[in-house]
Amino acid sequence: MTHTSVAAYAAPAPKAPLERTTIPRRELGAHDILIDIKFSGICHSDIHTVRAEWGDGGNFPIVPGHEIAGVVAATGPEVTRYAVGDRVGVGCFVDSCRTCDNCRAGLEQYCTGELGTVNTYDAVGRDGEPTYGGYATHLVVDENYALRIPDALPLDAAAPLLCAGITLYSPLAHWKAGPGKKVAVVGLGGLGHMGVKIAHAMGAEVTVLSQSLRKKDDGLRLGADHYYATSDPATFEALAGTFDLIVNTVSANLDLNAYLGLLGTDGTLVQLGVPENPVAIAPFALIRGRRSFAGSLIGGLAETQEMLDFCAEHGLTAEIEVIAADRINEAYERVLASDVRYRFVIDASTI
Ligand SMILES: [Zn+2]
Ligand SMILES: [Zn+2]
Repeated sequence: MTHTSVAAYAAPAPKAPLERTTIPRRELGAHDILIDIKFSGICHSDIHTVRAEWGDGGNFPIVPGHEIAGVVAATGPEVTRYAVGDRVGVGCFVDSCRTCDNCRAGLEQYCTGELGTVNTYDAVGRDGEPTYGGYATHLVVDENYALRIPDALPLDAAAPLLCAGITLYSPLAHWKAGPGKKVAVVGLGGLGHMGVKIAHAMGAEVTVLSQSLRKKDDGLRLGADHYYATSDPATFEALAGTFDLIVNTVSANLDLNAYLGLLGTDGTLVQLGVPENPVAIAPFALIRGRRSFAGSLIGGLAETQEMLDFCAEHGLTAEIEVIAADRINEAYERVLASDVRYRFVIDASTI
């Protein structure tokens, strides 16, 4: 198979700074579209990936980026869903097996043959190249794995919806956040700030549980009804038994039993952040109140489109800071220091 070279930013080795390089993109297949990438979000998991911290190794060089927004620049001969000029996004996966129960149910994110946007070898055996992500000028993807970005959403602030947005939308929808429901969002970062906006737009009563009150003004402005500091033990007494749903976006190890105590009967704590170490759950924290501890991973294609349409309808986008590509390494340091409100987005024209 022939390939075209495009400019990208890649980590050449684990923990090495990202640098400008070129990578191959395949020629357009029958159902492929060529995306002229405009913006690419920086997700915390990009940093785990290039530092090889998640134990799944790495086929360096790695081009991260799974919050991709751009415009269709060319289409394969049998493409029907998109035309040149359409605004599209790509999230965490670019293909799946298409035949398993998960794929048939629109839960492609749980397909075991899913092809990740970054650093996976082609599971469906199409071109044998590792996948390179969105820190690049162009991407070739099957039309069925791209999403339509509504005109109401600016491409830069829409990019983070493809991971941060759907990561929160899916559990909030699945566990039915809405009017009459009390929802807590743990952590007000890239993920959490989208959780506050989306849960509020769904009609839920939203509480932010953050380590300190440092971002309280932001939290209330973004749609939270209440804001508590988890460094204050009184918070856990005041809110005991309160919530129907808690979404935990923090990737540090927290005392989850204390958070389970904040759930009412039949409440659910959903883990979204991935701490380095296993978490400890005291069985009584679940047994008392028939509580559940659950996980959730991004969302399927149809649900991701539903999320984008929901965000357009409600005027929701990420709070972003747009950067030039030569500031990616600096941005990583600031993400690690929680010094971003709330998502960095790379302007792909600077690659
Ligand atoms: Zn992500
Ligand atoms: Zn499948």
